[in-house]
Amino acid sequence: MTLLLTTTDVAAIVAAYGLPKLLARLADAIESDFCRWPEFDKMVRVASHSKAGVIELMPVADRRHYAFKYVNGHPGNPARGLPTVLAFGALADVATGAPLLICELTLATALRTAATSALAARVLARPDARSMALIGNGAQSEFQALAFHHLLGIAEIRAYDPDRKATARLRAHLRAAAPSLVVRECASAAEASRSADIVTTLTADKRNAVIVSGSMLEPGMHLNAVGGDCPGKTELEPAVLAAARVFVEYEPQTRIEGELQQMPSGFNATELWRVLTHIAPGRERRDDITLFDSVGFALEDFAALRLLASAAQELGCGRELDLVPALDDPKDLFGLLGSAGVRAQMPQTEIPCK
Ligand code: NAD
Repeated sequence: MTLLLTTTDVAAIVAAYGLPKLLARLADAIESDFCRWPEFDKMVRVASHSKAGVIELMPVADRRHYAFKYVNGHPGNPARGLPTVLAFGALADVATGAPLLICELTLATALRTAATSALAARVLARPDARSMALIGNGAQSEFQALAFHHLLGIAEIRAYDPDRKATARLRAHLRAAAPSLVVRECASAAEASRSADIVTTLTADKRNAVIVSGSMLEPGMHLNAVGGDCPGKTELEPAVLAAARVFVEYEPQTRIEGELQQMPSGFNATELWRVLTHIAPGRERRDDITLFDSVGFALEDFAALRLLASAAQELGCGRELDLVPALDDPKDLFGLLGSAGVRAQMPQTEIPCK
């Protein structure tokens, strides 16, 4: 049997643990998987591009589990009443290939992206960082704000989005979820970034946009660039990368999809797992400008799927599906058809061809 976890189930798991605890557990799970990086069979995600957006498959495996995520990115979706990002995925047993879990990953993507951003900031931002600009106040934004508040102690969010309704929604949700978190509405990305310790960019636009320019940088700033995650879809001026120390998830993928696509192939970037395992340094000086060029890597979904599977077991969530057959004789697949199989041997009414 395969366990099915729907959006309602994942929301119930978040409610049972509480968002701060779930984000903390997710960040720990992602860190622990990043720390055993060489054990994973990794690849650049497979992308199918169209004028409207992209649909991607993201596989990864270790010796026990195989996981994949199906995810899209369609910046025009909100105008059609759909989220920009929609996702689902699966976890399977490597020893048999049997699917163990089918899971919604739209909510889980927002959770794991926020947990990964906070994990990266823990080693890259200044430890005394307390304010964060949040540029782009769409579906991901509450998750990012709350992960930085609960896991890093961010006390002030400086929010900007040209869609004022989006910022009002973010503000209302944050007031209810974290009353002590101060939220300031800003009139531009430049105003939001001014004097911010951390700048998070979370915009959705299928072009080489300049959300943060070189002139907006300040010594000691950490940038968490999340929205640029596709060829031809970036948020930072190249001068920002030139001025920063750049950290990435999986370098071959980020060179194609991240802010890094704007830089020459020899431009230096450090994979986050090297910092987490102390092979490479994170922030070295107080004045360093650090940049986490996030595009989202399959290993983060692998960690989320495994965490959700074990939480569902603990809480008794989800529903068993007969997605693959359970056979008394594993070679007798035909027997599964029962009387339908017998009928298949009888003469059929001809179906006319068109
Ligand atoms: P969304 O469409 O819900 O929100 C995007 C917001 O950006 C909108 O409110 C829009 O008004 C705003 N925006 C557009 N142009 C802007 C500008 N110039 N300045 C400020 N705000 C602007 O999308 P979402 O689900 O929140 O995702 C945001 C981005 O993050 C998308 O590009 C998505 O592909 C990306 N994403 C990345 C990861 C990752 O792992 N790196 C994970 C999930 C989503």
